[in-house]
Amino acid sequence: MSFRPDMPCRMSWLPQMVISGGQTGGDRGGLIAAAILGYEHGGWVPKGRLAEDGRVPDCYPMTEADTSDYPARTKLNIECSDATIVFTYEDEPTGGSKLTLTAVLKAHKPGMHMVLDPKDRTKEGSQKVARAIRAWLDVKQPKVLNVAGSRESKAPGIQDAVAEILLLVLQTPASCICGKVIPEDVWERTGVKEKDTPLWCSKCQHVTRWSDF
Ligand SMILES: [Zn+2]
Repeated sequence: MSFRPDMPCRMSWLPQMVISGGQTGGDRGGLIAAAILGYEHGGWVPKGRLAEDGRVPDCYPMTEADTSDYPARTKLNIECSDATIVFTYEDEPTGGSKLTLTAVLKAHKPGMHMVLDPKDRTKEGSQKVARAIRAWLDVKQPKVLNVAGSRESKAPGIQDAVAEILLLVLQTPASCICGKVIPEDVWERTGVKEKDTPLWCSKCQHVTRWSDF
């Protein structure tokens, strides 16, 4: 990742790379956000790039494990990352999400279980979750962040929700959450920075404030 050198000191910790197992839902949401914002991304996927929708799209630079077994690639992603975040709708994770959290604990690595409310898809709801994740990243400071969670068939809408939240978490002053590059001189303007004047993206209408960072 290239945009850390000009990072202001007040900015939260940002990982250098985002990895996942490529599955639909939580995994894929992480890859989508990372790709849009220009983060290095990838991760281990089952042999044959196996996923619920057939095959993890080729646009994602994933590494194939030598088995099509899902748990095997889950363990590889935990090994190759510094911290793991798991998104589900359920308070008590089951299936792959439970397996992931258990394996993270066993590996003595930081893990976060983020429970999302499928009924709350408001901007405020996403911001609240994003702030909680930022606070956690500040403490754990992972260089490689592993993103996991329920698959889309189990938790409909979770892929978009995770992508939306991680776009907020991972945004930098250099880019809008839609990926549009924000020229440096924009932030240099008095008012935008000092008075925290809202900045509208002409491409996606997202509102960004200096205090968002
Ligand atoms: Zn935008």
